[in-house]
Amino acid sequence: MNKIKKRIASYTLIILTSTVMLFAQTSRVDAQCCRTGGHSGHGGGSGQGHGNVKEDVKSELIREGTIDLQAIDANKDGKVFQCQMNWNVISDSKGDCPVCNMELKEVTLAEAKDNLIKNGFEVK
Ligand SMILES: [Zn+2]
Repeated sequence: MNKIKKRIASYTLIILTSTVMLFAQTSRVDAQCCRTGGHSGHGGGSGQGHGNVKEDVKSELIREGTIDLQAIDANKDGKVFQCQMNWNVISDSKGDCPVCNMELKEVTLAEAKDNLIKNGFEVK
């Protein structure tokens, strides 16, 4: 009985060790990815399993640098549409996010600004 228990214990240890090593490798790759990508990839966090978000998606809705919400709100109704996964995806009209294809949510300029600042984006 004791022998079997010992064997199970050592198997568990091996599995545990390799899991930890695999995890360490994965997070190291993540860190590198983050460093080269600057601040653009901090939105959804890395642990949600959405796969690799393509960095080469180009759209006028993806805002970069200092975001000027007043300028985006072209019709001056005080509201814009913002992706809840990619905070820098903002449009003045209804639509889908070009990055994650989620429907953009209608928010006030103040809410949009709040979301951006909380997630490390610069707002004018
Ligand atoms: Zn999105």
